[in-house]
Amino acid sequence: MTRAGRWIVMFEADANDAARAAVQRLLVGREGVDPRCRWHDRRLLTVRDGERRETGEELADAEGVRAAIWLPDGARLVDHGGPCAGRVVAGGVTWGGGDCPVVAGPCSVEDRETTLEIADMVAEAGAAALRGGAFKPRTSPYAYGGAAERGLEILAEARQRTGLPVVTEALDLDVLDAVARVADVIQIGSRNMHASSLLFAAGAHPRGRPVLLKRGLAATVEELLDAAEYVVLGRLAAGHPPGGVILCERGVRTFETATRFTLDVAAVAVLQERTPLPVVVDPSHPAGRRKRVGALARAAVAAGAAGLVVEAHVDPLRAWCDGAHSLDPELLRRMVAEVEALRAALRGLRSPPPA
Ligand code: PEP
Ligand code: MN
Repeated sequence: MTRAGRWIVMFEADANDAARAAVQRLLVGREGVDPRCRWHDRRLLTVRDGERRETGEELADAEGVRAAIWLPDGARLVDHGGPCAGRVVAGGVTWGGGDCPVVAGPCSVEDRETTLEIADMVAEAGAAALRGGAFKPRTSPYAYGGAAERGLEILAEARQRTGLPVVTEALDLDVLDAVARVADVIQIGSRNMHASSLLFAAGAHPRGRPVLLKRGLAATVEELLDAAEYVVLGRLAAGHPPGGVILCERGVRTFETATRFTLDVAAVAVLQERTPLPVVVDPSHPAGRRKRVGALARAAVAAGAAGLVVEAHVDPLRAWCDGAHSLDPELLRRMVAEVEALRAALRGLRSPPPA
């Protein structure tokens, strides 16, 4: 039987060049550059437009091959029915297990004292994890760019002090390793959703940290799923289990300027139809204003979000970044309580997703 599709071939870390070339020859009949073949790194080859002439066993028996996966055309690893787990667990927090953990913290890591105060506030409010960028993507080159390595040290101290796991952004390949050392979950920001080598490398990092992947400012749901696929391919290359990605809707650019971004609540439902990966919502960046964050958060929970990511500060008026939409201690406490109340009210109300 022949069917159009693609092979994903995972190699042993010590597979030699001759073994790799032999596998490519087996699949496309030649070695070297070929438009159907893509070597993502030395451990992972994908081959498209193939016909399934070779059996999985033949490939799996080939020298240097660790495993191989066949995907029919149009299918992704991150689709329902694929190999990805729908649950992501990090630092004792589970996303996709039926709860709605709230991740909260400053936009950017500030000085040590303020950041630790915020971490205490986040813990006291009952949130599940601490967020905060040590490396910040900023539109203006003159805006505060985060506390960098010192920021990671402060986050590590905050975790030790509060017990809260840490979600923080890897801005580029140069800082990925340092971030993976401290982060329980590696955030890939909206501006990097298309940075495919960063996505793959984050998935392939030897520590196997889960990735919180934020939707690009003008990215479609399909593009977000393709981006998640890169992370999962990276994980497969490194021998980590498939899954390990949390998708985050954070608002997209539209004609509307009354809000900072337009929160695409429908994307939560659409993504849940498409993938078992947990889908969370950042209501802060689209709201743009503190007083609107609660409404967007409630909408996200009602739509079935598997978690929230919100910006919060002990003194939002003095925040170094995004103070306008940062929740103050009282608003954060109220939000965490509301999420629980809303989930209790919704229990039993939600109809199962269509098959
Ligand atoms: C953030 O969450 O720290 C952030 C920069 O958001 P985004 O990438 O969605 O703009
Ligand atoms: Mn921010």
